[in-house]
Amino acid sequence: MHIILVGPPGAGKGTQAAKLVEEFEVPHIATGDIFRSAIKNKTPLGKKAKQFIDQGKLVPDEVTIGIVRERLAEDDCQKGFILDGFPRTIAQADALQDILADLDIELDAVLNIKVSEEEVVRRLSGRRVCECGASYHIEFNPPEEDNACDGCGAELYQREDDQPETIKERVAVYKEQTSPLISYYQDLNLLKEIEGEAGFEEVFNNIKQALC
Ligand SMILES: [Zn+2]
Repeated sequence: MHIILVGPPGAGKGTQAAKLVEEFEVPHIATGDIFRSAIKNKTPLGKKAKQFIDQGKLVPDEVTIGIVRERLAEDDCQKGFILDGFPRTIAQADALQDILADLDIELDAVLNIKVSEEEVVRRLSGRRVCECGASYHIEFNPPEEDNACDGCGAELYQREDDQPETIKERVAVYKEQTSPLISYYQDLNLLKEIEGEAGFEEVFNNIKQALC
């Protein structure tokens, strides 16, 4: 099962990906993770990527694509993968088609988890974090005592990223970036729209149905 997961911040991609990994026994390939691991293992491309990141620059496409290519060529991807965070541009999508053709792999589906802006704001703006690393949600996972960490008792705070205005900006950037990709995969007949606002189990069932 070779799948690409697409969805705005707060769509629950990470949670759904974890469940898909369990169900289909395929690796979850999140771009952030494979970058970190290439850098940690000091692969030639990892070293290149690190130079750009250390200078606060965007990692160029050729490096990103190279890192993805190396990861997808590993044995565990033959049976399937859940790709998350790549491609982000049409150029990357074209490169991915080439990589998959070289590896003799066919994409099964591109799952677009749809969640409205209001729902994204509701989900993300409720997040509260603690300096110790603990994370809560005022609605879905509240601490025992209002605004205090269960673990260490410190006062919880809201990340700058999770302020409603910032969230709206993040969603706008996401939409602008993703809409060309959505049409790209629609044209390839690979796009599956997933209603993402229901509960976790229901969304997972929607995904399974879409993959049948
Ligand atoms: Zn804490």
